[in-house]
Amino acid sequence: LQKKFPVYGSFGKIAGAKQYVHAINNVSFQLYEGEVYGLVGESGSGKSTTARTLLGLIKANAGSVSYQGQEVTSLTAKALRRLRKEIQMVFQDPYSSLNPRKTIGQILEEPLKIHGIGSREERQATALQLLQTVGLQAEHYFHYPHKLSGGQRQRIGLARALILQPKLLICDEPVSALDVSIQSQILNMLRLLQQDMNLTMLFITHDISVVRYISDRIGVMYLGKLVEEATTEQLFDQPLHPYTKALFSSVPNQQDKQRERITLQGEIPSPIAPPTGCMFHTRCPYAVQKCRVDEPVLQQVADHHRVACHLIGEGV
Ligand code: SF4
Ligand code: MG
Repeated sequence: LQKKFPVYGSFGKIAGAKQYVHAINNVSFQLYEGEVYGLVGESGSGKSTTARTLLGLIKANAGSVSYQGQEVTSLTAKALRRLRKEIQMVFQDPYSSLNPRKTIGQILEEPLKIHGIGSREERQATALQLLQTVGLQAEHYFHYPHKLSGGQRQRIGLARALILQPKLLICDEPVSALDVSIQSQILNMLRLLQQDMNLTMLFITHDISVVRYISDRIGVMYLGKLVEEATTEQLFDQPLHPYTKALFSSVPNQQDKQRERITLQGEIPSPIAPPTGCMFHTRCPYAVQKCRVDEPVLQQVADHHRVACHLIGEGV
């Protein structure tokens, strides 16, 4: 996928200057029904772009997005709208996606209205029920978004996403803007709802402890690529990719075994001029000559475990 990025000079954005960069490249993974798949990586690693591509909000110039055997990338606008009923998204900042001129009740009922579901009374009853589901009160129905706290707004964002009873919920950094204590409340609630409603969830975050708590499987992204994928247990007990190891260095594993510590050198490189070969070679303590030239492909190393690194799979 190529994405247009503005170009910044030392005095800010250079007017009109746009370059094409590969925002995500060769990212390939599957979501299984009823699981929580966590996508983790630093900002700029392509997590959000991946999610928006799945939803058809960004058009990929190559590749395939298949939902229950249906190719999403070639759907008409009308068919996409129908699909969006089943796939809903929760954003990092619910405030910017909640219309300030509408009451919470109106905001919640809007998706039902758009899809022509239920009578007025039925829509209201559903909205009130959902307020309860996400831990809010009936009185919030008449409030405007600005009256609510950040945590309450995110509960509304979630309620709005759930009101159409989606099968797949894509959460893009849903708790990153919240205080830590509120974060855990929302995460607990998400987990329970996911189980109760048998939701399939794609959960995007840069936070290691959040992704560990919420996910059944995890994909690690670096500069627009998937570098490792495994079950949460596998990944935390035995991370294989040097980047994953570096990310997890600060987190104790279950047996509290001594972890190999890797400290990342430097910043994530610019996607405008990404490194050749392995994207991670500029920061990798194990990089060898081959890494600067050849791009490693994601290969299966165990059940559910895939890694893209030249040193893995060669017995090193
Ligand atoms: Fe490091 Fe080379 Fe592996 Fe990339 S391929 S992660 S540079 S060892
Ligand atoms: Mg993002």
